[in-house]
Amino acid sequence: MKDLIIIGGGIIGGSSLYYLLEKGYKGKILVLEKNDALAQESTSLCAGGIRNIWSTTVNMEMTSYSIEHFKDFKNIFGVSIGFEQNGYLFTYYEDEWEDIVNFKPRWDEVGVNVELIPPEEIEALIPGIRAGVNHLDPDILEMVPISPIVGGLYGKDCAILNSTSAAEAYFKYSRDKYPDQIEISLNTEVHKIMIGGGEVKGVVTKKGESIEAGAVLLASGAWSKKIFDDSDIPENLSIPVEPIKRMLFVVSPPKSANYSHIPLTIIDNGIYFRPEAENLIVGRADENQIPGFDTEPDRSYYEELINLYMQARIEGAEYSRIQNMWGGLYAVNTQDNNALIGEHPDFKNLYLSTGFSGHGVMEAPAAGLSIAEIIEGGGVKTIPEVKKLRIERIREREFVKETIVI
Ligand SMILES: Cc1cc2nc3c(=O)[nH]c(=O)nc-3n(C[C@H](O)[C@H](O)[C@H](O)COP(=O)(O)OP(=O)(O)OC[C@H]3O[C@@H](n4cnc5c(N)ncnc54)[C@H](O)[C@@H]3O)c2cc1C
Repeated sequence: MKDLIIIGGGIIGGSSLYYLLEKGYKGKILVLEKNDALAQESTSLCAGGIRNIWSTTVNMEMTSYSIEHFKDFKNIFGVSIGFEQNGYLFTYYEDEWEDIVNFKPRWDEVGVNVELIPPEEIEALIPGIRAGVNHLDPDILEMVPISPIVGGLYGKDCAILNSTSAAEAYFKYSRDKYPDQIEISLNTEVHKIMIGGGEVKGVVTKKGESIEAGAVLLASGAWSKKIFDDSDIPENLSIPVEPIKRMLFVVSPPKSANYSHIPLTIIDNGIYFRPEAENLIVGRADENQIPGFDTEPDRSYYEELINLYMQARIEGAEYSRIQNMWGGLYAVNTQDNNALIGEHPDFKNLYLSTGFSGHGVMEAPAAGLSIAEIIEGGGVKTIPEVKKLRIERIREREFVKETIVI
């Protein structure tokens, strides 16, 4: 019998494993992953953006902790994860700018390093970007309704990294250092969680094998709610986490511009882009995307809803042709766009770390640390604010609503 089963071999499963062992967990841990390799789902399909610019304190604190951890990653794990601290740059129209200016003291208070910058500085940071719209024909403006950018929110501590390498490093380090405590079983899909007398008893795999365990940690990202459903857990005890497709496009940069060290930049229509070697990774959340496990990328989405806007805003963006594209899944907490971290209130020893709503890579270190502290029995200590992400908040309607979601 195992002491703990971790369902999911992504970055959340990996960071949880690492922190549990480093914090002194003595039990035997079994990691179950449905794929034939670790870290192949959302973790490897993501944009790798790391920012501490948020509206909720818990996200600011978790990501600030994570930035420091990722900065030190090579020293701890001996692995390069392509951590590049080029910053994040949000751009704003007049109607949103006042809110940003008013919120700045809150970021200062929590210690989030942000600067408000004028349009000229934005133009200096991102070659070819035009903050105004005077260069556009009225016909184009009607088709691509953009407004002048009046200011930018620039977070210099923010970064990008290779999240697959980070996740793999958590598992490798843990396996090398604690070989007697860990077993990792690939190609093993959990069908359901076994529960009896209000307590977790283990899991049943898709192949029909029952594996007993004293505790289970659900770190299965966009599949988390499906596991609840398959376990016949009633809806009122389940979790509001939906799989929602998000697409990324690798495109050539705007003509003759050197974009290799620009910040991850967010412009009109929620479009974001960041350097990827000589190219750019570009994305935009589709608000109309219906939940489901479809991950098919759609070229016309880039051409119509992304590139047309980029062309209007950035000189030479018509040369930004697709080199590669893919879709992946956000695990969206439909109630407040924030993670669920803690023990399930109705099922003893069922722990959750899921529902990261598009910010799981940048919260993985803080989430791993916090769930390790919870499983060890003392509750969240290092980042007390994480207590707010407890599962009970959903039914108590004590939401921790995050508004800066991209
Ligand atoms: C397009 C896109 C862009 C993103 N950009 C960013 C970004 O810039 N910054 C950021 O922080 N986050 C970003 N995210 C979100 C980020 O990728 C996730 O929040 C993060 O990877 C969550 O990690 P995870 O380990 O929970 O999920 P996953 O990496 O999906 O891992 C879950 C694992 O559980 C396994 N699993 C599921 N069900 C079962 C089962 N029944 N049995 C066994 N194994 C199972 C899966 O196979 C998977 O390996 C992005 C996501 C997408 C899709």
